Amino acid sequence: MYVHRDYPEFSWSNSRHKTFLDCTRKYYHQYYESHNGWLYDAAEENKSAYRLKNLKNIPLLLGDTIHKVIDWQLKRFLTEKGLLTEAEMITLVTQSLNKAYLDSTKSRHLWVNKPKRYQMLHEIYYDHGLSPDVITTAKTKLTLCVQNFFSSKTYQDILTKLEMHVLYSEDFQTFEVNGVDVFVVLDFVYKDVSQDKWIVVDWKTGKESEDDRKQLAFYALFLSREHDIPVEDIIVRNEYLLTGKSREYALTEFEISAAQQLMNDSIYHMLHYLDDPVKNKPIGIEHFAMNASKKCLSCNFREKCTGDLDSHEKKI
Ligand code: SF4
Repeated sequence: MYVHRDYPEFSWSNSRHKTFLDCTRKYYHQYYESHNGWLYDAAEENKSAYRLKNLKNIPLLLGDTIHKVIDWQLKRFLTEKGLLTEAEMITLVTQSLNKAYLDSTKSRHLWVNKPKRYQMLHEIYYDHGLSPDVITTAKTKLTLCVQNFFSSKTYQDILTKLEMHVLYSEDFQTFEVNGVDVFVVLDFVYKDVSQDKWIVVDWKTGKESEDDRKQLAFYALFLSREHDIPVEDIIVRNEYLLTGKSREYALTEFEISAAQQLMNDSIYHMLHYLDDPVKNKPIGIEHFAMNASKKCLSCNFREKCTGDLDSHEKKI
């Protein structure tokens, strides 16, 4: 049931942490100013923050849609329904991208009031169109990701393992750490009975990054906390769909403690930006510093900073 709140509930996630590190002004727009922006009588700054929060660029939308079709495929297999071919998967993702393009170009007036129901591409909102380069790159990435999914270690494991137990597939879960709700999105978690190990899979449609292993540590922390699974029984696996590489790690207790420590430190710093921690009421926007950098180009909230960014660019 929907309960009206003047301020959002405080929670923690790895993506919230990354936004906080990137730019605290962006963090304010994303996690505070956008709150209640869906209400008809909300203030214009809240409505606009809510709209902008929902923008997606092509790489992000492509990644989300590939995750969705992979989840369909795995659920179809688990419920013994007919499986999609590579070509069918590519068609489904392409249709979804085409729909986003049409929404962005033909239904902007509808998106303004219903930014969750209609889509708006970042490239069209800010750059007024999709360059041929963006389209070609997206098509190449889509084909590679789908092909590499079919030959991935995880998919082959699922098709051939006689005994496996699936715990989560594209599931949004919460657990509590020191009184704070922590969100994790688990791509796929299953037990390989032959090895007596739990495998946590994260599908990656972007490039490899040093943070990937750290992110998996939060998932392992969740499994050990919520399901009492010993850390030594968990294998975490990144499936890099662009290159077809699969990287597996057995995390140590030390890495899990480091993940927990990072979370505690991050929450501690976020709480400094609150005027009233009980209500999760933020301090004034002027205290959330802008971190102008190259990342501003891809930031959803760019238009809110335009005047300040112009003066920043003149200084450098
Ligand atoms: S445009 Fe740049 S300075 Fe403004 S919120 Fe985004 S990242 Fe921060």
